Amino acid sequence: MIVAMSEFLRLSDVDVAGRRVFIRADLNVPQNDAGAITDDTRIRASMPAIRDALARGGAVMVTSHLGRPVEGRLTEADSLAPVAARIGELLGRELMLIRDWVNGGTWHAELGSGDLVVLENCRANPGEKADSIHLAQQMANLCDVYCNDAFATAHRAEATTHAMALYAPIACAGPLMAAELDALGKALASPAQPLVAIVGGAKVSTKLALLRALVEKVDALIVGGGIANTFLLAAGHPIGRSLAEPDLVPQARTILEGFRDKVPLPVDVVVAKAFAADAPATIKVIDDVADDDLILDIGPQTVAKLVPLIERAGTIVWNGPVGVFEFDAFAAGTQALAEAIAASPAFSIAGGGDTLAAIARFGIADRIGYISTGGGAFLEFLEGRKLPAVAVLEARGREARDRAS
Ligand code: ADP
Ligand code: MG
Repeated sequence: MIVAMSEFLRLSDVDVAGRRVFIRADLNVPQNDAGAITDDTRIRASMPAIRDALARGGAVMVTSHLGRPVEGRLTEADSLAPVAARIGELLGRELMLIRDWVNGGTWHAELGSGDLVVLENCRANPGEKADSIHLAQQMANLCDVYCNDAFATAHRAEATTHAMALYAPIACAGPLMAAELDALGKALASPAQPLVAIVGGAKVSTKLALLRALVEKVDALIVGGGIANTFLLAAGHPIGRSLAEPDLVPQARTILEGFRDKVPLPVDVVVAKAFAADAPATIKVIDDVADDDLILDIGPQTVAKLVPLIERAGTIVWNGPVGVFEFDAFAAGTQALAEAIAASPAFSIAGGGDTLAAIARFGIADRIGYISTGGGAFLEFLEGRKLPAVAVLEARGREARDRAS
């Protein structure tokens, strides 16, 4: 039996010659304090859509969010300028970067077949996060073909990822979006057991909200970073001044009450008095954390408890470093888990901007089963939720097919 994996149109199915193609990519790359891109995986992963649309004679606009700008106020730190420069390097040409692009302008009137412009950080447009219909209609007016290639943002219903797809004349999925959905669909349809999830990082509120459903699907949920700190707080341990989400303590407590044996909490941690690369690091058992301590990594005893879970896993999904791996003194926990994942016979899937940076740093990319550009998106996919950006593309795809038949 052949089952149609996807109901959406693909960019490759759409004739783009002479048409205005608006690509919503995910070019949200990690940057250092000077704004330099520290890992360009997401840019390289977005190039096939751009190259294809250009090669087939599209007049191409590409945009993305970058970081978390305040709507209506685009600062230099939020600018896609370094991203545009990198795309230009990869294509061997200079690109125009357009500010205030929502209502078009000369640049739009002059955009011709084979041209490419980068539209500034879409999350700086008022109405983006609220999935504004008004904003979506204005943006849809800029194009003949809307192409969503931003898998990593597919779990968010925002104007460029969701509402715009309702109003554009044609709405399709880009090759990265399609490939991610195909690959994850296959890998997670019937994952080899035990299924172990590792969730860490700093985006505590977005991620913790997903864990209630995720914990039911997995055999073990390994937590790190701000997520672990929030669980430690929920379990009554001191966490000092560590990154955590006190508002989500009740949710964390519910998870611990229902699934305590699935969620191994850190028994020791690496702390410092300041969030800095040169801050002296101290290993402490969990109940010795002082009021002025910051927990910045999991400790060696914790690592020793977690590694066997990873060794015995059938499938591992990983999103979020378990410590501040960017600082050498707080990288050991993430490095040890990364190496255990690489060495494990389990099929591993990893995703998330900073997770990819950690994978690159520890040199294990070729020993990960599948590297996704998505973090939150693939956690939601795993959880079994319909991603809003995918749902709308599917609805438009069905509509197009119904019209054609
Ligand atoms: P991803 O991009 O992989 O989804 P996040 O963006 O949620 O991951 O989080 C990544 C960041 O979390 C890293 O920059 C890392 O330094 C930070 N981090 C990890 N552990 C801690 C911690 N204990 N305290 C503060 N920040 C942390
Ligand atoms: Mg991140």
